Parts: sequence; C-alpha cells; structure tokens
Amino acid sequence: MLDSVRVRLTLWYTAVLTLVLIVLALITYFIFWRSTVQRTDVNLSELSEAFLTTLDAEMKDQSGSDPLKLAGQVAITEHRFRDHIFAIFDAAGNAVVSSQEVPPSIPATGSSSGNPLSSHSFQRFLDASARTDRLFGEVKGGRDGYRCFARHFSSSGKAYTLVILQSLHPQQEMLEEVTSTFAWVIPIAIVLASVGGYFLARKSLAPVVAMSSQAGRIGAANLHERLAVQNDRDELGQLAHSFNSLLDRLSQSFERQRRFMADASHELRTPVAILRGESEVALSQKERSVGEYQESLGVLHHEAKRLTHIVEDLFTLTRADAGQYPLQPRDFYLEELVAECVHSARTLALAKRTSLTFEEASESPIHADESLLRRMILNLLDNAIKYTPEGGRVTVTCRRLGDEYVLSISDTGGGIPADLQPRIFERFFRADKARSREENDGGGAGLGLSISRWIAEAHHGRLELTRSDSTGSTFAAYLPAGPPTSATRG
Ligand code: ADP
Repeated sequence: MLDSVRVRLTLWYTAVLTLVLIVLALITYFIFWRSTVQRTDVNLSELSEAFLTTLDAEMKDQSGSDPLKLAGQVAITEHRFRDHIFAIFDAAGNAVVSSQEVPPSIPATGSSSGNPLSSHSFQRFLDASARTDRLFGEVKGGRDGYRCFARHFSSSGKAYTLVILQSLHPQQEMLEEVTSTFAWVIPIAIVLASVGGYFLARKSLAPVVAMSSQAGRIGAANLHERLAVQNDRDELGQLAHSFNSLLDRLSQSFERQRRFMADASHELRTPVAILRGESEVALSQKERSVGEYQESLGVLHHEAKRLTHIVEDLFTLTRADAGQYPLQPRDFYLEELVAECVHSARTLALAKRTSLTFEEASESPIHADESLLRRMILNLLDNAIKYTPEGGRVTVTCRRLGDEYVLSISDTGGGIPADLQPRIFERFFRADKARSREENDGGGAGLGLSISRWIAEAHHGRLELTRSDSTGSTFAAYLPAGPPTSATRG
C-alpha cells in the first residue's frame, strides 16, 4: 500500500495537517489562558481599589475598639461575590478580618477542607507578599484553585495586607470547553482533509497513470506512437514532451540501425555471391588447367580480401558507435606519419600513372592514436588516387595553423557532384556506385569517409571536403596540435 504515491502523498499531507492543527490548538489554548489570567488580574486589582475605598469610608464611621475589623466586615459584605474571598492580615500575619474562616494553624495535610486560606500554598503566597508591595499568584483549594492578589495598605499608622482570592473554576470550565471542542473538531478536520487529499492526489496523478499505461504499450513495433500531451506548459505536459522526444531519438536510432543492417548485408552479399559462384564454377569442371585454378583462386582471394575489409570497417563503426573503441594515443611526429603513408600509396599511384607528392612540412609533434591516423590518411590517399583518372596529380600538405594541424589531400579528379557533396560522409554512400565498384581495388563499401571522419572527431578534430569541382577535390583534416610533446623521431 505504501508503494502507491497517492497513499504516500495522503499520509504525508495528513501528518503535516495533524501537526499544524495540534500546534494551532496549543497556541490558541495558551493565548486564551493568558488573556483569562490577565483579565482576572485586572479584575482583582480594580476590586482591591474599590474595596480599600469602601474600607476607608467605613473607617470614618466606626468608633469601636477595633474599627478596622468592623469596617472590613462592612466592606466585605458590600463587595462579596460568589467566587471571591477577602482577607486582611496584620504585619504579624494574623487575620484581622476575612470572608472565610482562617484556621489558627495550617494542617499538615494541606487544604483537605477545600478552604484555600488553610493551604500551604496560600501560606507561602502570604509570606512572599511581605517582601513586595503588590503580588499576584495562585493557590490551591476549591475545585480548580484560586488566583490571588495581595497589596499593602496602612490604617491608623499600622501596616496591613489585603488579600483577594478569585476562584479559577469558571475560567477552567471555559478552557475545558475549548479543549473538548478541539478534541472533536481536530479529528473530524483530519478525516475530512485526508479523504479530500486522497481524491486530490488520485485526480492529480491520473494523467501519470494514463501515461505509464500508454508508455507500457509502446514497443519496437509501434515506436511511432506518442503520448498525448494535454497541456504542454504544465509539469505533466513537459514530462510527456520529454518522453516523446526520447521516443523520437529512439526511433531515429532504430531506423539508423535498421538501415545500417540492411546496407551492411547488401554490401556483404556481393562478395559472398562472387565467392560462391567462382568456387562452384571451379568445382563443377573435373579437369582444369593449373592456370585456370590459379585464376579462380585469385578471384577468391580478391573477394575474400574485399570481404575482410568490409567486415573490419563494419566492426570499427559498431565499436565506435558503442563508444568501445579505445584510443591508444602516444607522442609522434605527424609529418613523419604522412610521409610513411605517402610512401605506402606510391605503388598504387604508380600503377595508375598518377603523380603523388608530399610537400615537406615542418616538425609537427602530436599526441594521437598513430594507427587510427594512419588509417584515415591511407583512406584519403586511396580515394584521391582511386577517383583521379590516369596521369592525374595528388598533392599532400601538412602545416600548422594556429593551434591545429591542417592535413590536406588534393587531387585532379573529376570531383563530386555538388548535390551529393553533403552526403559523402554518410555510411555506405557512394557518389557513383557503378564506377566506384568496378574501379576500386579491394572494393570500397562507402564506409571509408565515415570512418575517417570518426577518427578525426575522436581526436577532437574534424574532416571536411574543402573543394570539389571539375578540377578535382581537396579533403582537409584538422587535428589539435596540443602542447609541445616529448615526441621521439621514429
Ligand atoms: P568508397 O569505399 O566508395 O571509396 P568512401 O566513404 O571512401 O567510400 O567515399 C564515399 C564516396 O565519396 C565514394 O564512393 C566517392 O564517390 C566519393 N569520393 C570520395 N573521395 C573522393 C575523391 N577524392 N574524389 C571524388 N570522389 C570521391
């Protein structure tokens, strides 16, 4: 049950609400109690004022032996309220007059009689009042205790203390009423709010539930389906939007993968078919001359080489796509590597009577994967020679431009048609399929340039076709030069 977000949200909401209501109830109770006490104190203070005025007036009319006692009795009768107790004590702490009997000594068990004047707490209050002019306090007794007020006054040159006690029972009753109201209002509020909270959470999460079941139905077969976006400005709309763009990317990647597989199998079919056809022909004739066998084996070898080349290229690309082609960089001189590659390609150029020149470059130390860069340069040289008619010219240069090396390979071939130029780095793309297949040696499958571009990018560089027209093409590889290295001469 706790696995449901709805339930968890409701529980959190209920817990927070309960806490808020309890804190609110406590604060309300405290404020109520404080204002009650303040009102009682004001009342006691005003009452003492009125009592002393009456006492003063009565004293003038008294002529007996103890005028204060008589005047006090009259004042008590005049100011007596149901919940109040008046008492006057002399400086020795003896009661002169009181509206309730004052015991001569306080019993050890405290105020078992309910008379507050006989409680220990009252005695302590009386003692404390001697030290200050006015004092408020609380004493035990009665049902809920008393609030009491003591103030000094003098009469006929003697000091006395007037004490007024007010029962706290009515206030306590009111506070109890407030408490019991909270006791039933808070649970009802919590129950109502949590039921409402649950329905609110259910309603708010309903689109998420719908989205998740819709997403659950989307698979490879119906990857084109998308989640419905109710309002693309709210959070759920944005979630659906993000999910849909994820599906877009997935389906593009699926499509790329599918095309790659189809193209790859198409490219592999031709050499495999030639291998099968050639071997079938060789085996079908019982008696064949050595020359014929050699010719057949030559074709088989050529196609096997072509097949190996394609499979290796495919393997490189799949590993590169999966980010599993670890670079093995080391320090070396780029111009030396270029010179080596030009040297290797010379045989191929000679066979086509193409001039191949490398314009000597200055020292170009670099930190890179040498075997990958060799592969890239050989690919570009191979293409330049392959697509340049006999008697043409291929020129290689390597120079530093700012903080990068620019390695450019120019030829005097027929160039690439302008409309096809943007596509030449695509996998399996060949500008002129018939020509490239019949002319190439080892058979290109249209993967060379995509691998070369990946190699440049894996080195944080780039590979571009900078010129291609009827006078020829130029491919330029830009490679970061990096800081000076400790490259050693090979
Ligand atoms: P391929 O194996 O066919 O050479 P690449 O990826 O190396 O594949 O090249 C893709 C296509 O770009 C080639 O088929 C060719 O049409 C074109 N191309 C590449 N280099 C040159 C060049 N130097 N001159 C003319 N066309 C080129």
